[in-house]
Amino acid sequence: MSVEKLKQEAIERMGSGMKAIVKEKVLDIIEQAYAEGIYVLITSGYRSVAEQNKLFAKSRTTAQLRALGITGIEGQPNEKKVTNAYGTLSNHTQGIAVDYCLTNKSATTSYWVVNKDWRRVAAIAKSMGFAWGGDWKGFVDNPHLEYTGKITVEPEETKVDSVIVTTPNKPDTDGDANIKKLQTFLNGYTKKASFTKLVVDGYKGPKTKTAAIRVFQYFSDVTIDGVFGKKSKAAAPTVKKGTTWSKWTRLVQGMLYYNGFNPQGLDGVFGNDTVAAVKAFQKANGLVADGVVGPATFAKFFA
Ligand SMILES: [Zn+2]
Repeated sequence: MSVEKLKQEAIERMGSGMKAIVKEKVLDIIEQAYAEGIYVLITSGYRSVAEQNKLFAKSRTTAQLRALGITGIEGQPNEKKVTNAYGTLSNHTQGIAVDYCLTNKSATTSYWVVNKDWRRVAAIAKSMGFAWGGDWKGFVDNPHLEYTGKITVEPEETKVDSVIVTTPNKPDTDGDANIKKLQTFLNGYTKKASFTKLVVDGYKGPKTKTAAIRVFQYFSDVTIDGVFGKKSKAAAPTVKKGTTWSKWTRLVQGMLYYNGFNPQGLDGVFGNDTVAAVKAFQKANGLVADGVVGPATFAKFFA
């Protein structure tokens, strides 16, 4: 399973009630873990109060629920306890908590073994401002991460196996070569468009897209905020066949690749292949297929 798929899966499982910053950070955790060969599945994110109470009902009697003012559901005293929090006490109902487990590379098996990889994911999360339920006293909640904004740096694991195990490098064949070219191109503007250097992994994600928007904004001399809004659209130039703007052409070619179209190269030369790819992109997006990239086409590139 690609990192993109894991991230998409996470977005779905997190649900719509997540705080944007937390959602973004969870995707970063997945990405960083993936780069280390650890495959993180997000099993849960935002929950409504009713959903949380349903989980809380496990291991409790109806009388216990009623004593806490929880009505409308029955206790399930014979079930295993999954949470100590009910109602809005759970950070899942605040959209700042997720639960995770690990999976194998093809995502066919999920596992809940708190091993080195599991703890590494927790350490990555803690370095990004999350608290880990595995650190809790009392009810230990190993799958649980919640955002507190407090960054904790974990020392590297020092336990060494008695046998030296060489881990093969992560194969470099996963990502798309053309997306890598786009990422390398964008990385040429990290300072000017002020973004953190992208990992050149060939995977399309929010970071690559935001970086592309920032580069667009730097090129068109509008406020660089990574959001393609009205001002960005209004500032978009017209880029077409034969243009001498190679940097603009590269951005166009890169965004064609990003959107699944093939201009046959990211070389900064706006020739017939690029025209054909632009036309195909425009047609697929309900635009006039004239092969000329203007505001409407740029807007679709970054949509
Ligand atoms: Zn949780």
